Amino acid sequence: MIEISNLRKHAKGDAVRLEARIKFLDMTSPYPEKTIYFELDKKYAHMFADDSYDAFILIPLWLAMLHKQDLHICGAVSKKLYHNVKWYVQKIFCDFCDALTPVNVTVDNFTDPPKKYGKIIGTGISGGVDSLSTIQDHFVNERDTHFKINALFYFNCGTRSDFGDEKWQETVSNRLASAKLAAKELGLPCYYLNTNLHAFRKMQDWTKVLYIANYSCVLSLSRAISSYYVPSGFNYQQMKKFGNRFRNNDMAEFCESYLVPLIGNERTDLILDGGQYRRVDKLKKIVDWDIAKKYLNVCNRYTADGSNCGACDKCLMTLLPLEIMGKLDDYAGVFDVEEYRTKAEDYKRQCVEKYGKSPFSTENVDFAKENNFIIGTSK
Ligand SMILES: [Zn+2]
Repeated sequence: MIEISNLRKHAKGDAVRLEARIKFLDMTSPYPEKTIYFELDKKYAHMFADDSYDAFILIPLWLAMLHKQDLHICGAVSKKLYHNVKWYVQKIFCDFCDALTPVNVTVDNFTDPPKKYGKIIGTGISGGVDSLSTIQDHFVNERDTHFKINALFYFNCGTRSDFGDEKWQETVSNRLASAKLAAKELGLPCYYLNTNLHAFRKMQDWTKVLYIANYSCVLSLSRAISSYYVPSGFNYQQMKKFGNRFRNNDMAEFCESYLVPLIGNERTDLILDGGQYRRVDKLKKIVDWDIAKKYLNVCNRYTADGSNCGACDKCLMTLLPLEIMGKLDDYAGVFDVEEYRTKAEDYKRQCVEKYGKSPFSTENVDFAKENNFIIGTSK
């Protein structure tokens, strides 16, 4: 059995931690960490949900299913989240990953119904195309305060970093600085939350589970957050057409359309946003926005200054539609455009070869055709 216990909020220098112990009772833990924690600037200590283990259930559930151990939470969990985990989430995890087995999940009790709700409507500011599209739609262009974003978040949970790797930490610091500058220009607060959830990546490919780490960060702040927009990677058609191709590979692209609505609790809703657009349409929507020109950041490689390398898959799939729109030079300040130019012909050829098989190659070929831009012998 895996047991989660000893939930506490405590000061750690200038930070405050929400922390719980994780204990493997019937096997030796293969992980060096003895606790799971979330960490914020101590000014924001009131945002942590220290009356609930909700933030400590998803990654432990994955580990329990992976190691074929039951999971017990020695404390209170949201009744809604527990119900969804017990009846639906485990089945989705099993469908996604062959290595997982259903387990028993038990809790001591349930959190009390909320007496008041947080006022934050938030989203992440990774600087990626999906994130900026959501911010543009639901902050810049949103008039209804019921839906309008009023805070941004940067979660250091392994989406673009390795736990304990100082080289990556430098990249995270540079990207955080850029996110804070963007938030300041937008006139929004930007909260940085650090966690050690990605220390539990040692036994598996982290891309499979990093999204549930991200959702867990939101749940850790459910005293403050009432709604949180989760920017989607795919549009609705791509979810249907390509979802199964990401089985055993990328959880968000496999199942986020039906997983995300199951993750909230009585205080916090997670809303999947952006499925109405292809990625190229999001890029077209934000391409002339000064915030995008200054802060667009999609790269998944290490760069010393945190900028876009211009050569990785994420950079290439962003730069090709920018070239198609004639906007490459507008983004020379944030991408290594010269590096892109050395890779572009090969990448375009690959897109044509992968047409119908890869979602982003397919939409880039379609986008070229829609704009009368020749990228080879495409349809
Ligand atoms: Zn890159």
